[in-house]
Amino acid sequence: MTDAIRPLIAGNWKMNGLKSSFAEFDAMLAGAGDVAGKADLLVCPPATLVGAFADKARGSKVAVGAQDCHPKASGAHTGDLSAEMFGDLGAVAIIVGHSERRADHGETDALIRQKAEAVWRAHLTAIVCIGETREQRDAGKTLDVCGTQLAGSLPDGSTAANLVVAYEPVWAIGTGLTPTAKDVEEVHRFIRGQLTDRFKDEGNRIRILYGGSVKPSNAAELMAVANVNGALVGGASLKASDFLAIAAGC
Ligand code: PGA
Repeated sequence: MTDAIRPLIAGNWKMNGLKSSFAEFDAMLAGAGDVAGKADLLVCPPATLVGAFADKARGSKVAVGAQDCHPKASGAHTGDLSAEMFGDLGAVAIIVGHSERRADHGETDALIRQKAEAVWRAHLTAIVCIGETREQRDAGKTLDVCGTQLAGSLPDGSTAANLVVAYEPVWAIGTGLTPTAKDVEEVHRFIRGQLTDRFKDEGNRIRILYGGSVKPSNAAELMAVANVNGALVGGASLKASDFLAIAAGC
C-alpha cells in the first residue's frame, strides 16, 4: 500500500539564482497555499540563497533544502559546506548523489552514503538520487544499475522521515525526453521492492520521486504512475507558475 503517501514536489534550482530571484520565490510562496492540499513543496536553491529563502519561507507551505553537502560536520575543507550549516540556516532536506555530481565530481555510491548519513547527523532528510545513462538503458541494465546505486548509496536505518529516493534517468535530465509511463512504473516498482526487502514495512512508506524533464504538461501523467510519490524538478522549478502547476497535477 503506497497510495496513502503524500506527494512531494521538490525543486532543484541547480547553479541558477541570484538575489534577483527573490521575486520568483516570493511568487511561489504566494501561490503555495492553493496547491498545498495536493503535495508538500520543497525548493532547493543554490547554497548562496538557502538562508534567505528559508527566512522568507518560515511559516509558509514551502520548505527549503540544499543540493549537496560535505560528509563532515566541520573542519579543514576549504570551500565545502556541511549539512549542519544548512540545518543552521533552516534547510530541512539535502539532495545527495545527483547524477551531475556523480558525473562532474566523480561521486561514488560510498561517498553518497556518507553524505546521506551526514544529512541525518544534522537531523535533516536526505534525497538520494539514482538513475541510468542512455547507454545503460539501451544495454538493458537499468534495473541492475539502479539496484547497485540503491544498495551502495542508502544507509542502514533509512525511514520515511529521513530518506527520499529520486529516480532520475540521466538521459531524461534537461533534455525534454521522458521515459514512458510503463518504463517509469517498472523502475519504481523495482525500487519499492528493493526498499521493502531492505527496510521491511518502512520501505512501503519511503517516498520515491521521479525526476527528469518534468513539466506542467506531463506532470499529471507521471504522478499517476504507481509508486511515484512526487517529482524532483529541475528547469521547470525555476518559474513559480510552472512549479505550482506541477504540484497542482498531483
Ligand atoms: P530537469 O532536471 O527537470 O531540468 O530535467 C531534473 C533534475 O536534474 O533534478
